[in-house]
Amino acid sequence: MAGESAFKLTYATMFNPPEELHTRFEEALAQFHQNIGKEHAMIIDGKERFAAEKFEDRSPANTDQVLGIFQKGTAQDGLDALAAARKAFPKWSRTPWQERVRLVRKAAEIMDRRTFEMAVVVSKEVGKNRMEAIGDVAETADLLRYACDRMEAAGGFVTQMGRDPLVGYNSTNVSILRPYGVWVVISPFNFPCALTGGPVGAALVTGNTVVMKPATDTPWTARLIAECLLEAGIPDGVVNYVTGPGSTLGQAIIESPEVDGITFTGSYDVGMKIYRDFAAGRWVRPAILELGGKNPAIVSRHADLEIAALGIVRSAFGLQGQKCSACSRVLIEEPVYDQLAARLVELTAKLTIGDPTDRNVYLGPVVNKSSYRDYQTFVGELIEAGRVLTGGKVLTEGEFAKGYFCAPTLAELPFNHRLWKTEMFVPITTLGKVSNLEEAMKIANDVDYGLTAGFYGTKEEAEWFFDRIEAGVTYANRPMGATTGAWPGFQPFGGWKGSGSSGKNAGGVHYLQLYMHEQIRTYVEKA
Ligand code: NAP
Ligand code: MG
Repeated sequence: MAGESAFKLTYATMFNPPEELHTRFEEALAQFHQNIGKEHAMIIDGKERFAAEKFEDRSPANTDQVLGIFQKGTAQDGLDALAAARKAFPKWSRTPWQERVRLVRKAAEIMDRRTFEMAVVVSKEVGKNRMEAIGDVAETADLLRYACDRMEAAGGFVTQMGRDPLVGYNSTNVSILRPYGVWVVISPFNFPCALTGGPVGAALVTGNTVVMKPATDTPWTARLIAECLLEAGIPDGVVNYVTGPGSTLGQAIIESPEVDGITFTGSYDVGMKIYRDFAAGRWVRPAILELGGKNPAIVSRHADLEIAALGIVRSAFGLQGQKCSACSRVLIEEPVYDQLAARLVELTAKLTIGDPTDRNVYLGPVVNKSSYRDYQTFVGELIEAGRVLTGGKVLTEGEFAKGYFCAPTLAELPFNHRLWKTEMFVPITTLGKVSNLEEAMKIANDVDYGLTAGFYGTKEEAEWFFDRIEAGVTYANRPMGATTGAWPGFQPFGGWKGSGSSGKNAGGVHYLQLYMHEQIRTYVEKA
């Protein structure tokens, strides 16, 4: 995209998408049938690796459609990938950082060329609408470039330190950040491109070698990322790609002493298990964990309610509520509650649901049978304990018959109900009435998570909100999304509390440093 287009593509662009995005997506969609149903290998040490057992990647919009056949990698495949990364590390880490930057930039350019082809795969395997799918891929190329830019801006993280006052000797002190070694990237289904490619890019630019393991629902997107990196000329073994169950292959990787650092993005439960298992190693190793969210939007009596309604609905139901940043709680001041609730219901009822590759569809299906069941269980609880304002049912007629389609749901629920604190990860958002902003803030912060948060109100109120909300990514008065839609270089992304371990956000100025440890080099000579 970059260079070719007259616009800068970000999630905010998608608010009012240029026509070119549609025409190019449609061209790629027309070509897609040529790629469907093929078998894809893992990539270890630059070679294709097949496993005895396979698994199918099916479309959640039509489960009859087998998108591709993938390898059910074993623990041994995981260990072989780590060994290949270990073997490649000395040379890659000694490759001048300028050369690593050049190769990663080249991979970003290749990804730019393949944006629409990759976006169709993302749309098909995740069930993302076309704009969200294009965004996921475009963001990945930008994350690769951003990592390169930061490496350059920091001069490779080589810093001259002070000269200590020695009598009869001269001393030179240099601080240098150096890669840890073999870096593992385990990614979730919902942003299979950005959350695989982003961490992989950071690890590579800083000189680590990588083993990536994508979610079993979305193996294809990650395979395409690996292809872009290899095509750019990144040497064999520097990037390895394995597929298979997290519980076996993933677990074997986590337990291996050959891992020097990890970036895991996924659920709180799996992330905390990885954190604890990782602690069984012989020394402390870095674990960048990007976990779940329970993201609130707070609406003041002074808010522009139309802007609030737009932003909340987009963030609640974009990607069917399956964003870590989805707006799942709305806390509204009493005087404007009825008016805003009515408008939210109205906008939600207008959202289009269907085949996510279709131009006019906003919501595709949820990703798999387990999410589909979760939705039905949660709706049961909402009906029992609260009041469903709109939605509240799965869609099974006609074109919906073969997919996991769920109606976007708004519900009222007493604040003491467990679903105010549980990440549901389906298209369900709860609304609550508060008597003042202090009460809203107390409820907003009273969860284990702290990922994103939104606010609608006056400028003074927004300052008050920024100061008190416990979250890593915060927005005020944004119609493009109350809690969603971060972009590298604009809104670095990461969470506090149970939402993230590092306290430094991806796509920001403090991120690359997480992938390196510091070495001080003191050289002394006689004066
Ligand atoms: P998940 O179930 O936790 O899985 C994430 C990844 O971990 C998958 O690749 C999975 O493989 C793997 N895995 C599972 N068990 C493992 C184990 N014992 N050892 C090693 N790896 C293991 O998450 P998901 O359902 O894909 O994604 C949704 C979650 O991700 C939500 O909680 C969401 O909030 C969170 N998320 C957070 C962020 C953020 O930036 N903070 C961004 C996006 C998503 P399998 O697929 O084979 O099980
Ligand atoms: Mg699938």
